[in-house]
Amino acid sequence: MTAQLLVVGSANADLVVPAERRPSGGETVLGGDTETWPGGKGANTAVAAARLGADVALLGAVGDDAHGRLLLDSLHGSGVHTGLVRVVPRPTGLAFITVTPDGENSILVSPGANHALRPDDVASVVSEAKVAVVSMEIPLDTVERAINAAAASGTRTVLNLSPVAAVPAPTLAGVDVLLVNEHEAAWLLGSGAADGMVGTRELAGLLDLGPRAAVVTSGARGAVVVEQEGLTEVPTPAVEVVDTTGAGDAFAGALATALTRDAGLADAAASAVRVAALSVTRRGAQPSYPTAVELE
Ligand code: ADP
Repeated sequence: MTAQLLVVGSANADLVVPAERRPSGGETVLGGDTETWPGGKGANTAVAAARLGADVALLGAVGDDAHGRLLLDSLHGSGVHTGLVRVVPRPTGLAFITVTPDGENSILVSPGANHALRPDDVASVVSEAKVAVVSMEIPLDTVERAINAAAASGTRTVLNLSPVAAVPAPTLAGVDVLLVNEHEAAWLLGSGAADGMVGTRELAGLLDLGPRAAVVTSGARGAVVVEQEGLTEVPTPAVEVVDTTGAGDAFAGALATALTRDAGLADAAASAVRVAALSVTRRGAQPSYPTAVELE
């Protein structure tokens, strides 16, 4: 099955607990009622793109359980092609998310079925897409194979390196757009800064790792596009934050959608900050993503 945009990545059920503060080691904190939302970086990215009208397929894996059905329903409902989502004999991935009153979240992921996604599942299909977004929370060798296959076939690749991990240099050299948030950028650049931040100028160093370009998101400050020609700062609209869960994935889906429509990278990032900013004004990850009509 061919789609213009292929997303390779995780599908998780998000179990979201509101809490006054997050527990530290050995501590028990009583939170509010748990809500269960469809999530996972790959599924989120695919849904964000489909809402914007992209022709998008998800390559992923879920379990034969209620959480897996929740995810497939959400993907179908948003118009994502699910023919490449495998149903495997492991529990669907789960993300345990604590949201505090400031809108910040902390997340523990149990990958489950996502770890059944093997390199042989990805190679042939990646090459049929115009743009491929590869995200983490799936086995690293699968990520590597997806990028290498895309690079070999001329498919444009966006690697959303989140959560950040050490990816071999030859694989990074096959990436067209490395997409990370500012903390992940700091980690990649080996910044010793206590707050895990790097200055905007230092972001140019990301290209030394191998990708042709990079996009670094920085929450309310928007994003920075890093290209050989220089850096472009892309401000995000000022909004009232309700829940930042999945903001980075909304950004990824919108960025990739614009790239399938042949937008330049800075224009694609400008459209992505609008989508991501709108998503933080609503609760949940996938349910918060706007349609093309809502963006108008
Ligand atoms: P991640 O969720 O991966 O950590 P960021 O926090 O950098 O990523 O957010 C991704 C994008 O979401 C930002 O580039 C921005 O467009 C939007 N965003 C996130 N937080 C805010 C905010 N407080 N106000 C406006 N936009 C935001």
